[in-house]
Amino acid sequence: MAQIIDVHSHLWAEDWLPERFWDAFVEIAVRENEKKGKEVDPDRIRESYLPTYWDPTGEKLLERMDEAGIDHQVVFGVDFGLALGEPETPIQEVNRTLAEFSADHPDRISTLATIDPRRPDAADHIDTALGAWGMDGLKLHPTAGFYHHDKETYRVLEVVRDHDVPVLTDSGPIFAPLYSKYSHPRNLDEVLSDFRDLDIIAAHMSFEWWRELHAVAKSKVNSRLHIDISGWQERCKEDPEEFATAVRHLMDAVGGDRMHFGTDDPAFDPVHPKEEWIENVQVLAERETEPTFSVREIEQLLGENTARLFDL
Ligand SMILES: [Zn+2]
Repeated sequence: MAQIIDVHSHLWAEDWLPERFWDAFVEIAVRENEKKGKEVDPDRIRESYLPTYWDPTGEKLLERMDEAGIDHQVVFGVDFGLALGEPETPIQEVNRTLAEFSADHPDRISTLATIDPRRPDAADHIDTALGAWGMDGLKLHPTAGFYHHDKETYRVLEVVRDHDVPVLTDSGPIFAPLYSKYSHPRNLDEVLSDFRDLDIIAAHMSFEWWRELHAVAKSKVNSRLHIDISGWQERCKEDPEEFATAVRHLMDAVGGDRMHFGTDDPAFDPVHPKEEWIENVQVLAERETEPTFSVREIEQLLGENTARLFDL
């Protein structure tokens, strides 16, 4: 059977992310329930439900990989400290913990280093993470309040280029108090022109902005833009036609060899299990009405492309 690789996943721990991030998580859960006419107690979500996601050692992640039949997973942290207030554990320490996690499980886990490029030590830290610690690429989350084309970001990207590893960047709208404008796909324009030798993965197919991402992808055919489909677990159930249409258009634009499977878990897994998500992608190859996909295209998407990009 073809291998399944998740190019986009996280480990969450209480003290790795700012308190305001967890506040937002609870607010969203409460509001989403309210919209369905259900009342939930925010304190219960914070005290009982949220901790079920925390997994600083990666133990739960490895267990879920085995259960869901995922061969390899690319894991990373998020640096929202400058945007939302510093968490207890500095991002540099989170990166180091992830590097050790990957070193303990080299055939199951790869890791991307992440940092807000506005931190004074950003470029040096990424150099250490990609060099001495052997991490496998860079993750950027511009919604913290920076652009890909800011000079601080470029300094970090130059380091990544020296190490010849991929970059994965968040793309598409995001919840408050983070800022969606920085992760609008149109903001990939400059970096794709200025770093044409970098493999840049736009995450989430830019969610609802996938048509804008498509415009960028179609025009930057001579850059190395890749796309991951993580985070569409719910959307794909609500509107399978929209999902299939987005994947088809974007695959036609960047090429079948540059589309990647991802989950963005642990965020979705409890409500939209990985097994179901994988199946919803596999059935794309069985579609009889347009848009259709070949078995080969879906195999590439589910693992082959990520294996090649990360030399697995
Ligand atoms: Zn993510």
